[in-house]
Amino acid sequence: MHPRLAEDLNSLPDLLDAARKHAGETLAGLPERAAAVPPAGRVPAPLPLEGSGARGALEEFAQRWEPTFAGSAGPRYLGFVTGGATPAALAGDWLTATHDQNPASGMDSSAQDLERETVGWLAELFGLGAEFSGAFVTGATMSTVTGLAIAREWLGERAGVTVSRDGAAALGPVTVLSGSPHSSVSKALSFLGMGRSALRTVPVLPGREAVDVAKLEEALAALDGPAIVVANAGTVNTVDFDDLRAIAALKRRYDFWLHVDAAFGGFAALAPEHAALTADLDQADSVVVDLHKWLNVPYDSAVQFTRRRDLQLRVFSNNAAYLGEIGDTPDFLHLTPENSRRLRALPAWFSLVAYGRDGHREIVERCVALARDLGARLDASPRWRLLAPVRLNVVCFSPASDATQERIDALVRAIAEDGTTFLTPTVYDGRPALRAAFSNWRTTAADVERVFAALERLG
Ligand SMILES: *Cc1c(COP(=O)(O)O)cnc(C)c1O
Repeated sequence: MHPRLAEDLNSLPDLLDAARKHAGETLAGLPERAAAVPPAGRVPAPLPLEGSGARGALEEFAQRWEPTFAGSAGPRYLGFVTGGATPAALAGDWLTATHDQNPASGMDSSAQDLERETVGWLAELFGLGAEFSGAFVTGATMSTVTGLAIAREWLGERAGVTVSRDGAAALGPVTVLSGSPHSSVSKALSFLGMGRSALRTVPVLPGREAVDVAKLEEALAALDGPAIVVANAGTVNTVDFDDLRAIAALKRRYDFWLHVDAAFGGFAALAPEHAALTADLDQADSVVVDLHKWLNVPYDSAVQFTRRRDLQLRVFSNNAAYLGEIGDTPDFLHLTPENSRRLRALPAWFSLVAYGRDGHREIVERCVALARDLGARLDASPRWRLLAPVRLNVVCFSPASDATQERIDALVRAIAEDGTTFLTPTVYDGRPALRAAFSNWRTTAADVERVFAALERLG
């Protein structure tokens, strides 16, 4: 054994204590850590030849890289839709690496069953019945890739071709209809060989991001074959929801695959006040939910659900003699884009066991209340203008006057440099804007006060 490895093996408990102590100090400082650290170009160091052992690596990381990291796991990071890691999720993540299971197959370990148990709990949380199965993937984008790959196979089934065998070209041009699709839909279509131009946006309701269902019906009626509809259960700008019930009702008259992007909006299901928004999620053929956002598990974690596991198996099956037979309960390597993969379910499992539906509901409800609080403060200030009502956990706003792209970009930079919070820019309804997204379990009313004070100072 290499002497550095042998040394580290001999002092493993001490090393882990040192890493734990370091993590503990980092986490203790998280509430006051700068939300963002604007990057200053870093010159890559040369490849280490001798190696300095795990302690050396920890020291170098702490000295050279860690100070440049964002406080993205902290309470006032409101950019994108980020979330953090609950204490239990973090412990689960450590143990994921500790056990280093590969839940691709079930030949050697029950880790796959833990993933199945967790997927089952999540399905229940989001109101999806036994007809749905699912798997962990890296993020909502990969969940959409998986869902649309199954949809593509379904389009093939309708057309009498087997896309998984004969390729996307056998299918010919595809139509994907959506009101306010997330950018990842277009990326997935490019990746899957259906092409970005397959996506046709359907008009939204006036002053909304939700699709105009009458216009969607017109678009479906004008087609001469089956299509894919991507419904949005929580848009990134204003967390607007398509009317899932009305869209699902169109299935009686038109032939389409219903893919629902509920990346973070799916968590509305946990809060009784908002649960109606997702009540019809179970009408979907495939569903996307991100877990590294509002479930507050570390990156990279999302789940995909579908009611057509048979088609999923056709797309993703990975046959090899050494992998054994595909039985009634296919191994995950026959269902997901990856073969080998980490036990991503474990952090989610830990958090669900630790806090249950109630604990996660409290996180969701608190985030919504905090978003409303910030929205009300901005609305009352002459400096700012709310661009949409705070529907769930995102506040979409701009300066009250002179809301040009240059001004927004300058504000984003100034906010990042200040470090009290971090916000991301967007364009809503043609207007340059800012968004503040609440999804971290640590955020409190005191944080909202500090964020608002910083915005008043910088705005
Ligand atoms: C974040 C998000 C995605 C993409 O998620 P990743 O986890 O970054 O892949 C897709 N759709 C919606 C609505 C999102 O909010």
